[in-house]
Amino acid sequence: MKPNKPYKKIEIMAVGSEMLSPYFQDSNSLYITKRLNELGLDVSFKTIVGDNWEDLLTSIKQSLSRTDILFAIGGLGPTQDDITREAFASVLKKKLLYHDEILEKIQERFKQRGMTMPVVNKKQAYIIEGSTVLDNACGTAPGLWLEHNKKTIVLLPGPPNELKSMFESHVWPRLQVFHRRSSEKKIIKITGLTESKIESILSDIYPNDSSIKLTILARPGQIEIHILCYSDSSQAHAHKKAIFIEKRILDRLKDNVFSTSNEELEHVVGKLLTMNKETLAVAESCTGGYLGHRLTNIPGSSNYFIQGVIAYSNDTKIKLLGVSHQIIDKYGAVSAQVAEAMAEGIRRTANTNYGLSITGIAGPTGGTPKKPVGLVYTALSWANGNTVKENRFLGDRKSIKFQSSQEALDMLRRFLMRGKENISDMSN
Ligand code: ATP
Repeated sequence: MKPNKPYKKIEIMAVGSEMLSPYFQDSNSLYITKRLNELGLDVSFKTIVGDNWEDLLTSIKQSLSRTDILFAIGGLGPTQDDITREAFASVLKKKLLYHDEILEKIQERFKQRGMTMPVVNKKQAYIIEGSTVLDNACGTAPGLWLEHNKKTIVLLPGPPNELKSMFESHVWPRLQVFHRRSSEKKIIKITGLTESKIESILSDIYPNDSSIKLTILARPGQIEIHILCYSDSSQAHAHKKAIFIEKRILDRLKDNVFSTSNEELEHVVGKLLTMNKETLAVAESCTGGYLGHRLTNIPGSSNYFIQGVIAYSNDTKIKLLGVSHQIIDKYGAVSAQVAEAMAEGIRRTANTNYGLSITGIAGPTGGTPKKPVGLVYTALSWANGNTVKENRFLGDRKSIKFQSSQEALDMLRRFLMRGKENISDMSN
């Protein structure tokens, strides 16, 4: 579709002091950005401004001086700190006009819930003159769509469910006029490689083309490559470009890639086990059940996940998993030998095809020069053998727990994909 309006700049303004605190994030703008990208529209600016009259006026003036489409989120509610409507009216020098039919709708909403509308909600029946009201199917605050001096201003409610529903029903259809180019998005998820390693593997295939955007998002234990391709001609062309670049990346990264359809690793492992009609049990020490938690987050996991044991103490490792106390005495609870014995023990106890185990030091205390914080052994046991990996993870306790579970899942994934003959090659 050809654009019938020239595209210039887009800004999203999140209004609310809570988003300037360390406790609350502006997630609505991520949602809007995603949908705009699907229309081939990029966001040029994002602003967060507190519920302060002067700051809001300054911010609105600044945004309108540099953008063509401005989405302002939040501050449309009935309370005193909800001042977005009033601030826009003031900057645009427009009146706020009372609409009886809006008040009736708000009253009706309260009535449906068996409540009487509080007087403060009357404020929400005032709208900026010349604007179009966007109905709020999930709440009381109406949204507003305004055209002013060749700029488009959209005021949306803050609660994410209200914003999404209003955006889809009333904003998305109106945005089609700005449709700029087709886009296609792909996400490649990777384990077992560092960000710098991936950069070096892919450095010569980075496209020198502004219509293809590659972003690497890294966290310990998992890296994602986001591919966003635009096309001025058609969706099929955007798709073709995305497939082409995706294939080049997959060819290079091989089975370090665990998903191209935005799945979590536990989901991929679950699918492989289901396909093979095989079963799994886990024995965890330092992850305290996190591996089992991840596996059982997947609907249908009861088909393949049989048992999890949190064997935190040495006694439990001995009693519930059959690890010999001689091995623990000789090598210590955090050792390759104990990890293997735990994996084998849980596999035998639960009578499953596979046993996975984790034993390590998640920190921040408990490390020694020989066995530092982050030293984690992960082991896999199957009918004819065991394999164990020594890992040295960095990070805090939570991060080490995640990386440990990720590594254990990845051992099994690689094993299921490569087969037993390639087990020696498991660490890449
Ligand atoms: P309400 O009628 O519920 O007051 P509102 O439009 O005035 O709607 P706010 O009062 O600004 O919205 O925010 C209500 C709630 O919505 C906030 O407490 C917060 O939970 C959520 N919220 C607001 N803005 C955002 C945002 N940008 N991203 C995520 N959540 C948000």
